[in-house]
Formats: sequence, structure tokens, C-alpha cells
Amino acid sequence: MQKLYHTALCVCIVLIATGCSDNESKLHQARLVAFGTLVDISTWGVDDDVAEQAVAAVESTFNKIDHTWHAWHPSDLTQIDTQLAKGEQVELDADKIAFFKKAMRLADASGELFNPAIGKLIALWGFNQDDRPQGPPPDPAAITSLLALHPSMDDLIITDTTLKSSNPAVRFDFGGYAKGYAIDQAMAVLRARGIDNAIINAGGDLRAIGVHGDRPWRIGIRHPRNPGIIASVETSGDESVFTSGTYERFFEYDGVTYHHIIDPRDGYPAKHTLSVTIIYDDAATADTAATALVVAGPELWQKTAAQMGITQVMLIDDQLTVYMTPAMAKRIHFEIDPPPKVIIGDVS
Ligand code: ADP
Ligand code: MG
Repeated sequence: MQKLYHTALCVCIVLIATGCSDNESKLHQARLVAFGTLVDISTWGVDDDVAEQAVAAVESTFNKIDHTWHAWHPSDLTQIDTQLAKGEQVELDADKIAFFKKAMRLADASGELFNPAIGKLIALWGFNQDDRPQGPPPDPAAITSLLALHPSMDDLIITDTTLKSSNPAVRFDFGGYAKGYAIDQAMAVLRARGIDNAIINAGGDLRAIGVHGDRPWRIGIRHPRNPGIIASVETSGDESVFTSGTYERFFEYDGVTYHHIIDPRDGYPAKHTLSVTIIYDDAATADTAATALVVAGPELWQKTAAQMGITQVMLIDDQLTVYMTPAMAKRIHFEIDPPPKVIIGDVS
């Protein structure tokens, strides 16, 4: 599955699947392509016409967010990048300020392991394009000199209406945050239309509200190495389930695989972790935490999760050992036989 922002913008309804409206079956499912990924929208107990209008509204929400925050197609964000790099102060509306403030808070809480100011580094690796990069990996000297400039969300000076940067090396890449943000906005659109039972699922990253009739929504979590799922979980109330995986985007060069989650401390793809799944209330936080914890890895995930206020984590390392918090372990149902080796540890 390609991730957010990595194919040409194409937001269109490609399929409106079932639209059953008899009394037994009130599941409505639709599929969009947004942010270069398939987005499935399921609603329960809603008339078809209401569901279809809601899907159209979600589609335009995604479309707008993509136009605003795209990291390399000309967007409001690329314009903001250009102005900030020149040392200019940018006037922003309340929504954009809120977007930046939340990203700044999350970057800070993650100890900068989630650092969306490293857009230049992501670009150096070639992950700022629609196509899969071909390699070679960057010149180590280029990585070192970028790291020496320390681009960080801490370099931003933000007010309720303006943004400025004290570091010209800052360039944004919200690939680890904007999909979550978009799903939060889209869920608000559904809620505003009186929809209380729904899932918005963008390539396995989702927010679910309410129930599927008389049972909970059941979610599959992708196996990081094999096709199919490794585990499932049932959601309750209003929850987001996000997985960041090193299998999502990568290239191979000279027999070495380089993936798209970059450790801001050394400038190289994060080591030792295949995937991290987070369950949390809002999707934007779950999205950034999943990215940050891939970087944190088996050594630092508990500390980083604690700092970010996350209690439900499943991390799968490169030996396929599963690390889980007790809160996550209670909910995870493995779908592989034999089940993997599991190490339970709380956030701390
Ligand atoms: P996926 O859902 O595809 O696994 P993530 O949510 O983990 O993706 O986001 C990965 C994307 O985030 C990368 O493609 C890049 O755009 C950006 N990114 C990579 N490393 C970092 C980092 N350390 N901090 C913030 N953003 C990052
Ligand atoms: Mg993420």
C-alpha cells in the first residue's frame, strides 16, 4: 500500500460497493482513492442517500487537505516552506495554526523522534516523490551536513495568526501526521451529519466510531512480513488504530533495503523495528506516535510512548518478536498459528 502523498493526487470515487438498506443489513461501504491510498468508508444504520452524501463530503475534505499539506506537489505547504526559508513571517488561518501547533506538541512529546521539519532529509533519501526511489542512498556527507543544521519544530515561532522559522534548514514533510489529521477531520464531517457508527480506513490506518449493528467493528492488523493479517482487534466507542511499517515504502540498492521512516538522530532509516501499531483516541496522535515508535525501536518505545501519553502499543521487531503493553495485550487476538513470541511491558 502506498502511503499518504506518494502518488499523484487522485481523489475520486472508484467504487460504491454495497448499499443495503433493508432492516437486517444497514452496512454501507464506499471506496475512494485519496492521498495515493485506498480509503474505505463504512457506515452502519444510515440511509444510503445520507451515506453517499457523507462520502462525497469526506472526499472533498480529503481533497482540500491534500491540496493544502502536500509535501512536494505545489501546495500551501510548499509555499509556506519557501517563505519560511527566506526568513519571512507567514500569516495563517486558524485551521493551519492549529495543524502546526498540534504537530509541534507531538514532535516535542516524542523527543523529536517524530520530526516533520526534516523534509530535506526525507527528500535526500528520495521519498519526496510519487514514484518509488531507485537509490543509491545519499552520500553520507550530505546526511551529516543536514543533521548539523538541526531542523526541528522547535525552530518555529508561532502565534495565533503567524508562523516564522529561525532555521532556514526547516522544510516540512507531514507524511507521518497528515493522514491522521485528515481522518480526524473526515470523522468530524460524518459526525456533523448525524452518523455515529462508521469507520474511515486509509490503507489500514483508521478511526472507528460506534458499532457494526449489534457487534463491535473488527479490525485486522497487517503482518509486517507476509501477506494477510497478524492480529485483529475490536474497537470500542471512538478509537483510532494506526500502524507504521517499514514495508510501506522502500527501495533496494546493492542488496540493501532502505525504508521511509528516517531516524532524525542519525539520518538513516530506523533500525530493528518492522511495525508499530497504536490505539489512541484521535487519529493524528496515533499516526505520529506510530511513526515515532518505529524510530524509538525496542529500546526506547516504552519511554517514548509514556512521553506521548500512549498506553496501547504493539511493536514488532526484526526478529518478529512482539512487544506489547498490558492494555494492548488484553485486546489483541493473534490470527497466526503458532502465535508469535510476545514480551509484555508497560510504558514507563
Ligand atoms: P506509513 O503509514 O506509510 O507507515 P508513517 O505514518 O509512518 O507511514 O509516515 C512515514 C512518513 O513520514 C514518511 O514517508 C515521511 O514522509 C515521514 N517521516 C519519515 N520519518 C519521519 C520522522 N522521523 N518524523 C516525522 N516524519 C517522518
Ligand atoms: Mg505515522
